[in-house]
Amino acid sequence: MEIFKFGGASVKDAASVKNVLRVLQKTGFQDKVIVISAMGKMTNAFEIVIAEYLSSRDIPGKSLSVIKEYHLDLAHQLFESNQAPVFEKINAFFRELTNFMKHNKSVQYDFVYDQMVCFGELISSTIVSEYLKLQGIEHSWIDARQFIKTDSTYRDARVNWEETQEKITHGVKPGKLYLTQGFIGSDANNFTTTLGREGSDYTAAIFAYCLNAEKVIIWKDVPGVMNADPRMFENPQLLNQISYEEAIELAFYGASVIHPKTLQPLQRKEIPLFVKSFLNPGDAGTAVSKGQSLIPEIPCFIVKKGQVLISLSSLDFSFMVEENISDIFKLFHLYQMKVDLIQNSAISFAVCVDNRFNNLERLIQHLKARFKVEFITGVCLYTIRHFDDLSLKTLEKDKEVLLKQVTQNTVQLITRT
Ligand code: ADP
Ligand code: ASP
Ligand code: MG
Repeated sequence: MEIFKFGGASVKDAASVKNVLRVLQKTGFQDKVIVISAMGKMTNAFEIVIAEYLSSRDIPGKSLSVIKEYHLDLAHQLFESNQAPVFEKINAFFRELTNFMKHNKSVQYDFVYDQMVCFGELISSTIVSEYLKLQGIEHSWIDARQFIKTDSTYRDARVNWEETQEKITHGVKPGKLYLTQGFIGSDANNFTTTLGREGSDYTAAIFAYCLNAEKVIIWKDVPGVMNADPRMFENPQLLNQISYEEAIELAFYGASVIHPKTLQPLQRKEIPLFVKSFLNPGDAGTAVSKGQSLIPEIPCFIVKKGQVLISLSSLDFSFMVEENISDIFKLFHLYQMKVDLIQNSAISFAVCVDNRFNNLERLIQHLKARFKVEFITGVCLYTIRHFDDLSLKTLEKDKEVLLKQVTQNTVQLITRT
């Protein structure tokens, strides 16, 4: 089978949904699982609703209606009849979401987040499914939560591979066309869980792994994986081939074009991943597969904004040794900080972290009990893989570098902006 993933940008408006059909017409309708993300920037819009709901404990009518109008408008452009079943289905999802808000007693942000944010994917995949139905394309819409089983780490759930494998083997049969949601799964109590922002790529990889798929294609608004984010760098170049190892490194350092967890399951079964343009589906795009590390072999630039640089030193000038450092890491784990870079000397320890779960204040308080702590928020972490003199000089120009770390293949800079 083949697994396709269409992200937010590829279903952001009516024309994009029609384009999904065009891509399928080119590539064939059979033997596929199609994974769909929330439309456009809808996950961000849901995050606003969730924050407002949790702070007021009321239904945030205004921001909720922004989301509802967006989907209904889009559906009106795809379906001529107001009586089309899609409208009742969309309304039913909003009733379910509103009911959840009315009856929910939990104040646990991560739990509430997952129970609400999943509607982005549920509605999006339903609209695409109803549109395919209207066009006479036979397929099954399946609820990913019945297939992807996870633990209960809401917002960052870990897959229970054994159960997931069993559900997928029983429920997904070769030859057919399936449509499902990215990003979402469910735990042992059948509460919704999510796999982390941008997690739909990972969903595609999970289905691919469990089905021993022939390939995965992630359809994007870019020609493939470039050597730099086209939003931030001029003249980025397309990478034609990347090995799994290199792609894992790029994703790990923050190349947001592929979700970092996506590659491991694919590598284990040597399932190739293609990143292709949904506007030019005939173009080759980028292949991530076994083989040469990088073609062409050029420096690759990765930027992560909004990071935090924390500097720690011992209160009594004693050395920063294994014991201290292991205690520090326990705290990073406790507060769900993703560590991007580490640098230590005899009496100090600097670390760049991603404050994804907004636990910085609590972490700093905790650290202050034992260390002298300084921190700077909003720093940028630049990484160049396969750097050379020119690429490094170009990047360093006009920047205030706070920390620099050079290894054989990779240079990392932390800068103020
Ligand atoms: P999706 O629609 O699948 O959610 P995303 O918006 O998450 O897609 O990812 C596509 C975007 O990733 C591109 O529009 C591009 O701006 C950005 N991007 C960041 N780094 C890269 C890179 N190295 N190569 C290509 N695109 C990149
Ligand atoms: N909709 C989710 C997000 O925006 C998951 C995804 O798009 O991959 O993060
Ligand atoms: Mg995305």
